[in-house]
Amino acid sequence: MEFCPECSSILTPQKNGEKKVLLCQSCGYTKPLTSKSEKKYRYGDKIDHIPEKEEVVVIDEEMLEQRTMPTVRAVCPKCGHKEAYYWQVQTRSGDEAMTTFYRCTNCSQTWREY
Ligand SMILES: [Zn+2]
Ligand SMILES: [Zn+2]
Repeated sequence: MEFCPECSSILTPQKNGEKKVLLCQSCGYTKPLTSKSEKKYRYGDKIDHIPEKEEVVVIDEEMLEQRTMPTVRAVCPKCGHKEAYYWQVQTRSGDEAMTTFYRCTNCSQTWREY
């Protein structure tokens, strides 16, 4: 499973002409799929439509349930709650700083730190 470095959504394998790519359905980010990582994916599941670009961060619910998330004081932009889980995602280049994501412990609103 790979995640979008832009918005942390799950990347889904897509055929782009002859090339296979990983596509983020949330923000449209694409990443070329190497033969190495290709093995991890199954093809044939054609995705009919790509949702319109929107500022929504989708996260893997399973991933969240499987680990204990640390919490931090952060104000939820949706409900104003002052505590949120947080985690960091490495952006596409290893040299870049980690991007911090937050998820409200009250309403599960998820956002990233800008
Ligand atoms: Zn994305
Ligand atoms: Zn909230």
